[in-house]
Amino acid sequence: MAKNKQPGRSVSSNLPGKPPGEASGDDRIRTATRAVSSAGVCEVAVARTFLGTLAYSIPASLVGAVTPGVRVRVPLGGGVELGVVDRMGLREDRTRRPRLRDLRAVLDKTPVVDAAVLELGRWIADYYVAPLGAVLKAALPPGLLVGRSGRGDASPGVRTERVLKLARELKTLTERERLFGHAHRQRELYETLEAAGGQAALRHLTKQLGFGRSVLNGLVTRGVAEIVEREVERDPFGGPVEPERPITLTPAQERVVAALERLGAVDGGEVALLRGVTGSGKTVIYLDVLERQLARGRSGIFLVPEIALTPQMVRRFRARFGDAVAVLHSGLSRGERFDAWRGLREGRKRIAIGPRSAVFAPVRRLGAIIVDEEHESSYKQSDVPRYHARSVAVMRARMEGALCVLGSATPALESWANAREGRYHLLELEERVTGHGLPPVALVDLRAAAEDEAPADADAGPRIFSRRLRDAIDVRLERGEQTILFLNRRGYASFAECAACGHVWSCDACSVTLTYHRRRRQLVCHHCGSTAPPPDRCDNCGAPTPGYAGVGTEQVERRVGELFPSAGLARMDLDTTGSKWAHAEILEAFRRREVDILLGTQMIAKGLDFPHVTLVGVINADVGLHLPDFRASERTFQLLEQVAGRAGRGDTPGEVLVQTSRPGHYALTAAAAHDYVGFASRELGDRREPGYPPHRRLANLVVSGTDESRVVDAAEALSEWTRALIRDRRLEGIDVIGPAPCPIDRLRKRWRWHFLLKADRAGTLGGVLRFLGERRGQPGSGLRLEIDRDPEALL
Ligand code: ADP
Ligand code: ZN
Repeated sequence: MAKNKQPGRSVSSNLPGKPPGEASGDDRIRTATRAVSSAGVCEVAVARTFLGTLAYSIPASLVGAVTPGVRVRVPLGGGVELGVVDRMGLREDRTRRPRLRDLRAVLDKTPVVDAAVLELGRWIADYYVAPLGAVLKAALPPGLLVGRSGRGDASPGVRTERVLKLARELKTLTERERLFGHAHRQRELYETLEAAGGQAALRHLTKQLGFGRSVLNGLVTRGVAEIVEREVERDPFGGPVEPERPITLTPAQERVVAALERLGAVDGGEVALLRGVTGSGKTVIYLDVLERQLARGRSGIFLVPEIALTPQMVRRFRARFGDAVAVLHSGLSRGERFDAWRGLREGRKRIAIGPRSAVFAPVRRLGAIIVDEEHESSYKQSDVPRYHARSVAVMRARMEGALCVLGSATPALESWANAREGRYHLLELEERVTGHGLPPVALVDLRAAAEDEAPADADAGPRIFSRRLRDAIDVRLERGEQTILFLNRRGYASFAECAACGHVWSCDACSVTLTYHRRRRQLVCHHCGSTAPPPDRCDNCGAPTPGYAGVGTEQVERRVGELFPSAGLARMDLDTTGSKWAHAEILEAFRRREVDILLGTQMIAKGLDFPHVTLVGVINADVGLHLPDFRASERTFQLLEQVAGRAGRGDTPGEVLVQTSRPGHYALTAAAAHDYVGFASRELGDRREPGYPPHRRLANLVVSGTDESRVVDAAEALSEWTRALIRDRRLEGIDVIGPAPCPIDRLRKRWRWHFLLKADRAGTLGGVLRFLGERRGQPGSGLRLEIDRDPEALL
C-alpha cells in the first residue's frame, strides 16, 4: 500500500485535457448552451456512455421528421449508434463546425422524451457532469436506447390480443330469434358480449367461459361479430384490490393536509419537508395530496427507496387509485415496464410509483412529486449519471410548477437544513396515530451482558443474544406476537482469521475481507462477488482451520434455530431474496403470521407496517458506526430510528432492545430517546469544522486504474491542476482536499485514489467540475475519473 509519490516521477496527468489557461474559451466558467438556430442541423445525445452530444445534418428526406426528443440512428466512426435529438440547430459553444454527417433514420413519430423530461435531463447532465445520452438512457424504460448496431430492435413492442367484437346490434327479441333460431349457444355468446360491453378476449371466451370455436365462428359468419386485434397492457399489478378502510384524519394530520393543499394549489413549484415520526400517518397524507392533484386534472409521482420492499405501499395505492396507478418495478419484464411507461405517457395512468428512476415518469401535467423516506441513500445512483433522485425531484417540481413533498421520520441533514433555513416549508407530525406513542428503546450493553449471562450455550462462539433479548423473544412467542431482529451484516461471519498468526483472508481483486457464507460453504467478496472455498489451513503460517469473527445474519439465523426451535423464522437479506418476487413472498408470510420472527438486514428496516410486531431486537447496533464516512453516525441513527419504528404499530404497545458495545454514543442515545432534533443539532455542529454537507457542498473525484503508480500520479496531477485552476481564476470559497487512497483503495482489480472538493457555493463547485469533466478518461487511457457530486458515501 505504498502510495507515496516517489521523487522524480513525472506529475503530468495521464488524463486527457489541457492545463488551465491554455484552452480557448476558458474564460467562461459556465458554458453557454443556447441554441443557434440554423436549418438542417441538429444536436444528438448519443446513448453510448461518454460519447456526448454530437452534431449531425438532416438529409432532405428526414426534414420535418426530426424534432427534439425523437430517437435517431446516427453514423459514428464505421458504425451506427442510437441517440435522441437534443435540439435543432447547433450549440453556441461549438467552436468548429466540421463537415457534418447525415442522420440515418428517425425512429419515432412522436418524441419518446417529452419537453419537460428533456429539459430535466439537460439540467442533470449539467449539474452532475454526465453526458446527456447517459441521462436519457436512465430516464427511459430499458430497451428503448440499447443496441450498438443502432437498430433499436430490442425495443419492446406493443402487445395485442384477439377479441371478438359485436359488429351489429340486434335490438329486438324477434330479431334475435329469427337470426339464431335453435343456435342457443350462439345467442348466449351474443348476449355475453353484449353484457361485457360489446367485446371480450377470445381466450377468455374459450378458456374461461367454454364457448367452442364453432360457436364463435357462427357469430362471425352471420356477420354479427368480428375478430379484431386489441392492444393489451401487461400489468401484473392490475386486477381487483382490497378496499381501503375508511380513516378519519387526526387534527395533526388535518393541519398538514391543509398546509399541503394550500401549497399544492398554486402551481408554484413549492417544496415541503414532512418530518413525521414513524407511524404518524404520513402515507395517508401522501394519498390525500395525490388525490387532490388528480381532482385538479394533474398527475403524480411517488418515489420509494426500493419498490420490491414496499408491496404494502403498492397495495395501499392500488386500493385508493385502482388502475390509474403505474407501478415501475425492476422485477417487471421489459414489456411490462414499457406498458406502464406508455400508460403514463398516454394519460391512461396518472400516478407513477417506483424507485429513483420513476422521477423521470412521463406523466402528463405533473401536480405533485412525493419522495418517501427521503433520507435513503438508494436515491443516489452509484453509476453514471450519478444523480440524486431527491434533488432531481425538487428540480423537476420547480420546473413544472408542481408540489414536491419530502417525507421522513429522520430527514437527511441536507433537507433538514433547507427546511430550517426557510428554503423548504417545514411540516411536522410529532405523535403516532395509535394510542401508545413511540416504543420505549433500551440500550443493552453487550460487554456487560456477555459477563452476566450464564454460559448455557458453552459451545457457542460469539455472544449473539443477551439474556434480556432472549427473554423478550420468549415472551413474544408465548403471547403469539411477532418479533423483528435486525443486523445490518449478511453472511455467516464478516472475516476469517488465523488464530495462530492473525492472517485475515481478503479478496484478490478488492482491498476488503472475505465474508464466510456457511450454507454455500464459500468465502465471498461482497464488493465484486468473487468466491473462494473456505480454507482448511492458513495461507500464511499453515496452521489449521481459521476462526470466524464478525457475526452476520446467517449465523444469527442458526442461533435462533437453536434457542427457539419451535419459532417460525424467516431471514430476509440479499442472499435470500435472489428471485424477483422473493421479498413480497417473505413479507406476505409474515403478514399472514406464518412467521414469528423476521430476521434481516436494512431491507426490513424500511416502511413495514405490521400491527402484531411488538418487539424489535437490534443484534449489534455498532456495525455501521465505524465506517470511515462522514455520514456514519447519521446512517446509524436513521437505521435505528427506522427499525425501532416497526414495533408497536398496532393495538399492543411495542418494545425495542438495542445491543451495543457503545451505549454512550450520541447516535444511539438519541435514537433511544427518539430525539431527531437533538441528534441533528449535535451532528450539524460536528460537521461544521471539517466543512461537510450541509455546511459546504461536496464532490468526490475518484481516479482509478489497474496500474497503481499511474493512478497515484494521475490523482496527484489532477488535484494539482484543480488547485491551479482555482488559483488562476481567483475562485473563492472552494478547497481541494487530498489526494489520498480511497477507504476501499482497490476494487475489482482497479486501484483507487480520490480527492475532495468542498465549496461554499454550488455554482463555484459546478464550474470547476465542468472543467474536470472535460478531462475524464477516454477509452484506451486505462485511467478513469469518476465525478460524484453530492456523494452519499466516500467509499
Ligand atoms: P407512517 O407512514 O407515518 O409510518 P402510516 O401512514 O403507515 O404511517 O400509518 C400508520 C398506521 O396508522 C397505518 O396502519 C394507517 O392505516 C394508520 N392510520 C394512519 N392515519 C390514521 C388515522 N387518522 N386514523 C386511524 N388510523 C390511521
Ligand atoms: Zn472483491
